[in-house]
Amino acid sequence: MALVAGGVLFAVREGLLPQRWNPLPSLDLAEPNPWFLDWRLSTLRIDGDACARLLRSPLIEATQVADQPIANGCGWTNGVRLNAAGGARLSVDRITCETAAGLALWLSHDVQPRAQDIFGAKVASVQHLGSYACRNIKGDTHGTGMRSEHARANALDIAGFTLTSGKQIGVARHWNGDGPEARFLRAVHARACRTFRVALGPDYNAAHRDHFHYDRGLFTRCR
Ligand SMILES: [Zn+2]
Repeated sequence: MALVAGGVLFAVREGLLPQRWNPLPSLDLAEPNPWFLDWRLSTLRIDGDACARLLRSPLIEATQVADQPIANGCGWTNGVRLNAAGGARLSVDRITCETAAGLALWLSHDVQPRAQDIFGAKVASVQHLGSYACRNIKGDTHGTGMRSEHARANALDIAGFTLTSGKQIGVARHWNGDGPEARFLRAVHARACRTFRVALGPDYNAAHRDHFHYDRGLFTRCR
């Protein structure tokens, strides 16, 4: 019995149940603090219809792209081409619907309010270093040779933000300061752990000195 219950919970966590069998309501990007956020994001992993419904939200601008079957640990399921999220321009060629939804939630409810508080301006665009890349984990000192979540388009590396005022804030340039830019970066990165399972920045290791790595993989780690 415990085994069955554990199996069901794992299936929900990993998005293996399509929305129609899932007891949780579908995600609304306008809701700032959704219950069971992690599990509800997972629903978007294989359910293309749930993704299509989500893309009607004004808080995300994206179109669905065809699956690339996983070969040699690389490929994607339920991906989108992302143009904007949370009112900021963010162009990503291929990214999973689940990670794109996480970005829209984080940008709408964590990043934009902090930009407004600290700088009195909105984030106009987000600069990134890419999503899909058929490669192993970078800076992996244990030598596990494991595929990165980037190999499944399930991650994004964020390098900086441009505000509507024209001000630019970069992870490499501003993380180690004590000005408002550093305060902003540290505040938004700390909040990312709510939406993403893995949220790593410059304090994690040297491989992340110039970006935030966010993904929706199996493991959880925030630093
Ligand atoms: Zn990364």
